Amino acid sequence: MKDFLPYGRQSLDETDIERVVECLRGDWLTGGPYVGEFEEKIATTVAAPHALTVSNGTAALHLCLLALDLQPEDEVIVPAISFLASANCVRYVGAKVVFADVDPNTGLLDLKKLPECLSEKTRAVVPVHLNGAPVNLKQLKSLLPPATVVIEDAAHALGARFEEKPIGSCQYSQAAIFSFHPVKHITTAEGGAISTQDSELCQRLMKLRSHGMTRDESEFEEPSPGPWYYEMQELGFNYRLSDIQAALGLGQIQKLRQFIERRQALASLYDQRLQVHPWVRPITRVNPPSTSAWHLYPILLDYTAAPLSRKELMLELRKEGIGTQVHYLPIPDQPYYRKLGYSTQSLPGTQSYYAQALSLPLFPAMQDADVDRVCAALFRLLPQSR
Ligand SMILES: *Cc1c(COP(=O)(O)O)cnc(C)c1O
Repeated sequence: MKDFLPYGRQSLDETDIERVVECLRGDWLTGGPYVGEFEEKIATTVAAPHALTVSNGTAALHLCLLALDLQPEDEVIVPAISFLASANCVRYVGAKVVFADVDPNTGLLDLKKLPECLSEKTRAVVPVHLNGAPVNLKQLKSLLPPATVVIEDAAHALGARFEEKPIGSCQYSQAAIFSFHPVKHITTAEGGAISTQDSELCQRLMKLRSHGMTRDESEFEEPSPGPWYYEMQELGFNYRLSDIQAALGLGQIQKLRQFIERRQALASLYDQRLQVHPWVRPITRVNPPSTSAWHLYPILLDYTAAPLSRKELMLELRKEGIGTQVHYLPIPDQPYYRKLGYSTQSLPGTQSYYAQALSLPLFPAMQDADVDRVCAALFRLLPQSR
């Protein structure tokens, strides 16, 4: 059998490995210079004045939600199609999730339906740039009362642009979060980051990622009894990224442009090949000058009419060494959320997108021939005749 093509995977090279080894040979495994250097590089990349790293993307979301100081009755709007963490962060701080419907053609928060989700209790919205395609942040912001906070879940969108600016520049949001899990654009194994324009928020998030404590004398609430003193001012966590991980991240982020360009080229090739496919429908494209970071390449297909079910298609593709995945199961249908009374009953866009989406292999090390192989299999398994 040919090599198995997963739907996504990391791209590491020798310079990444050397940098990690260099870190291991040095003085700092954590709390050292690589972390700060990586953070500066992230900030420059996303064109934000501040960025901090954390142990993973979920921790990044948790800290952003903590910093909102929500009450149990406060509501946060989250799209029903996303990875679990986008909603779970709201539950971590004990607030109420309000699931918003998504556009059936993109899987992105459906802005036409957003007003129905707003109430007097709405404190924040967590738009998700699903698949790497940016949500229209300007339009989103215009639909919200001025005090409503926007936290971008940009786990799929490092390297994407909304209009002229990189996602993460936070022109229309309080903060944006990123993930460096191996399937994402760049990896630190586990890892994440938050970018923001708000320096006070950044200070607070830095404290929260390290137990809520500070060693900075200028921040002390009590007089310092001596040089050993540190002060815990609120309840925080240990959500720090290690220097070993930051060393890897530094090598990775230098290749981001190159990774994104390769993803874009592969996506265009899929587009070209699949344009004439009798069953496959591509997701709606991003309007220029915005660009997608192409985290995933999903196809949409009406399986109720097609000769194969999605399950059959996925299993047949797997037999041929082609990995696919459905991104994502609607969050409100998870047993945990069902028990809280949620469902997708009144979310037709979510139901439709979930029923039709399937992510094909997409990662920078893929060859053009791999795209041809996937497309050939799709033409063979779903022949012309209806
Ligand atoms: C990956 C991901 C996260 C969480 O990131 P981790 O680093 O795995 O914790 C959050 N939101 C979305 C949309 C993701 O894809």
